[in-house]
Amino acid sequence: MPAQTVYLLADTTTFAVLCDACLASREGSLAARHRAAQVEGSLRRDVDIGFRSCRRGHRILLKRVRVAGVGSRGFAA
Ligand SMILES: [Zn+2]
Repeated sequence: MPAQTVYLLADTTTFAVLCDACLASREGSLAARHRAAQVEGSLRRDVDIGFRSCRRGHRILLKRVRVAGVGSRGFAA
């Protein structure tokens, strides 16, 4: 089974996702699966790719997406 992929924008260093494989599991109640599926982590701004595992060991691939113009503009006050 291919790893789940999470895309992070250029300025994003932390993420929180739900592991698809855990959610698709039929073990336990939906609430228990939802709790187990929560994966949080961080990726340094200068790193383009990384891996995390959920509590059950499913692999989650992190990919940084650099889109020209996105994240480089400040907010006009
Ligand atoms: Zn999982």
